[in-house]
Amino acid sequence: MGNYKEYDVIIVGAGVAGLYAALNLDSSLRILLLSKRELSLSNSSLAQGGVASVMDRTHDTIQSHYEDTLIAGGYKNNPDSTEILVTQGPHEVRRLMDFDVDFDRNEDGSLHLTLEGGHSHHRILHHKDATGKEIVDKLIAAVKKLPNVEILERALVADLRRQNHLFSADILMGDEHTYAVAPFCILATGGIGRAYEYTTNSAIATGDGIALAYRLGAKIKNISLVQFHPTAFADKERESFLISEAVRGEGAYLLNCYGERFMQNYDERCELAPRDVVSTSIILESARTGSKRFYLDISHKDSEFLKNRFPMIYRNLLEQGYDLTRERVPIYPCQHYLMGGVDVDTSARTSVHNLYACGECSHTGVHGGNRLASNSLLEALVFSQRAAENIGNKAIDHTCRFENYYEFEPDAGTEPLPHGMRTEVREIMQHAHFVIPNKEAAKKGYERICEIRESLENGNYRKSFEYCETLNLVTVAALILKEVISR
Ligand SMILES: Cc1cc2nc3c(=O)[nH]c(=O)nc-3n(C[C@H](O)[C@H](O)[C@H](O)COP(=O)(O)OP(=O)(O)OC[C@H]3O[C@@H](n4cnc5c(N)ncnc54)[C@H](O)[C@@H]3O)c2cc1C
Repeated sequence: MGNYKEYDVIIVGAGVAGLYAALNLDSSLRILLLSKRELSLSNSSLAQGGVASVMDRTHDTIQSHYEDTLIAGGYKNNPDSTEILVTQGPHEVRRLMDFDVDFDRNEDGSLHLTLEGGHSHHRILHHKDATGKEIVDKLIAAVKKLPNVEILERALVADLRRQNHLFSADILMGDEHTYAVAPFCILATGGIGRAYEYTTNSAIATGDGIALAYRLGAKIKNISLVQFHPTAFADKERESFLISEAVRGEGAYLLNCYGERFMQNYDERCELAPRDVVSTSIILESARTGSKRFYLDISHKDSEFLKNRFPMIYRNLLEQGYDLTRERVPIYPCQHYLMGGVDVDTSARTSVHNLYACGECSHTGVHGGNRLASNSLLEALVFSQRAAENIGNKAIDHTCRFENYYEFEPDAGTEPLPHGMRTEVREIMQHAHFVIPNKEAAKKGYERICEIRESLENGNYRKSFEYCETLNLVTVAALILKEVISR
């Protein structure tokens, strides 16, 4: 095999979806788990609000969670996968606790369930306001105990091919290439936020899995369904700090540039309307007032309660010079989440045989046109478990012979990537597809993005991290704008 190493399953991505897939795969399988940066860097680690799941059946019902998900999604959700999400969800959330995930509790020991926009009941489990980090830390600890899982950090899958029922992955570690071959591959590469000027997403969110799947011929669906979070801290840094939905859940008001509440003019649910409604209302209110200044105000609540309930948000804002217990905080919408992606069935299978996708890079259809708050960690858990189960069943009969797999040519490129390509893509996306899509700008932007993609594909560029991520971002941006134009 030269420097091609054999596995049963390659998992590209080590956020909640990738980690949970590794934990659920049969322990007899040889698994390679890849993370292109350090393991702790992912959108999963940034999740604040929590996981939505019906744990208290005396005050809440699965049916109600199902209906809230459909309402938020504008009834464009896939009913079968949504039903699976809400019914299987509580089981997977209980399993998180078996992996020592510590959710906040009330004084009597029962789970502290909070409320977020679009939910009609208190059903969000959380660990203070840093739920994602708590889950990721505990899942990493559990995966590291598995002898059948090899973890490669700072290892970027630059290319993925399929030949003779085997996936070959070209893996870049620094400037070195290493290769892996397996009959099964799970894409769990997260979102696309870095295609935008302002996003809540971490630096890894460059749409790699979607671009890899697209190049393999997999079906991509609803890629233009991007969620813009209404309340990112407005400091104009690329990675905008998110002020969780849960702050509005606990009673925060949204104010316009005159310090007036305005949501009642747009939706009867006011500040607790789903995200797309709130983001769109802010943009319309901005057009009405001629100002982009908006604020979130929860200073009317008890300050000790706020410090204890939102310690990370409180600390981060204080570092920026804002005390949320005493004053209003500037906010504005920014890119946050991708509802579409690599199209999968209810077992997380893509249209390419034995290629799976789960988590934010996938399109299961559970979110419809707009994701309900705290449903994405749940989706990552439920559908990565289903991918693992589906592979497990097949692997029993699998008589795989590791021969005649695709062998990559050595990288012949010599030129470094010129500066400015990503900046141009981000400017185009921010202009053409931010909250309310602009079809004319999308048409122009699409043409320019296709030119950039062509120059990347045909240039003599070295296959560096920078090159691969830029090509992936450009590929995803082109797919988004193409869909915007055709909608
Ligand atoms: C600020 C913020 C707050 C959020 N809050 C919540 C919340 O409260 N509740 C909720 O349900 N959801 C929340 N979300 C959304 C949720 O966190 C994500 O949708 C979810 O965690 C995505 O998980 P994932 O495993 O699919 O991807 P990620 O967690 O983003 O992991 C992606 C992994 O893929 C790896 N990777 C990517 N490309 C490659 C490549 N080419 N080669 C190798 N590895 C690669 C990365 O290194 C990383 O390990 C929030 C998101 C953000 C950004």
